[in-house]
Amino acid sequence: MTTLEATIAKSASILNDAHIDKAVAYAARKLIERSYAAGVEIRLTFGYRSIEEQNKLYDQGRKTDGKIVTNAKGGRSYHNYGVAIDFVLIKGGYDMKADNDQDGYSDWMEVVAIAKALGFEWGGDWETFVDNPHLQIAYGYSINDLLHGKRPTDAQQNAIIYKIIQLEKRDSYMNELEVLRNKVELLDARATAIEKRLNLFGKETYAKDYTDAAEAAKNVGMITSVNDKSKPELNILQMLHNVHLTSPSVVNLLKETAAKDGTKEEKKK
Ligand SMILES: [Zn+2]
Repeated sequence: MTTLEATIAKSASILNDAHIDKAVAYAARKLIERSYAAGVEIRLTFGYRSIEEQNKLYDQGRKTDGKIVTNAKGGRSYHNYGVAIDFVLIKGGYDMKADNDQDGYSDWMEVVAIAKALGFEWGGDWETFVDNPHLQIAYGYSINDLLHGKRPTDAQQNAIIYKIIQLEKRDSYMNELEVLRNKVELLDARATAIEKRLNLFGKETYAKDYTDAAEAAKNVGMITSVNDKSKPELNILQMLHNVHLTSPSVVNLLKETAAKDGTKEEKKK
């Protein structure tokens, strides 16, 4: 992969076009960045198109040579209002099955998913003229609305940008959360390892079921009830159980020894 800056530079003329909608340009730049982060490099092929350019493109495959690429005459494409972009894969071109980053997902559809999360509508979802490279943010306006002079307001544009900023904040928060979760898991693994080492008889403290340990502890009078014990208490009982300190014969032996020591102490006095 080339650098992100170099990848963005390939679309600079479209992103910086004075006629492109500011929120669409913002979302398009994020689309390039996020696709890059996902291992897919893309380039924008179209952004804003004038009515004249649109008519010229409409003629392609009809009056002039080439393949038909649009169904829209001048004024009837969202590109004419600066709210649409078209993209292509830098590796893979228009191949919708290409998986150059080898993550098991089509690179094209990865880009589409990222675009939709950013607020774009995808031309591949259209039924009348399927337009796979096409993405747009129409602000709820039909082409007729736009033809009759309706335009996105500053507030509408800012709302799109604000939503993307929130999305980015949430993502970075989720990343931090993931780092913390990994740290907790590591600490937990260390604690478990210590407890394993403390077990003289090679049994794990973290039992699936503490019933045996608790019942045995109750049986020898260490505890009076079983069901009200917290997890740390149960872990201690389990440790004692694992080293046979809940066995009646061991407890009796300990009691006898303690009693003898007590007698000795008494004699000393
Ligand atoms: Zn398009």
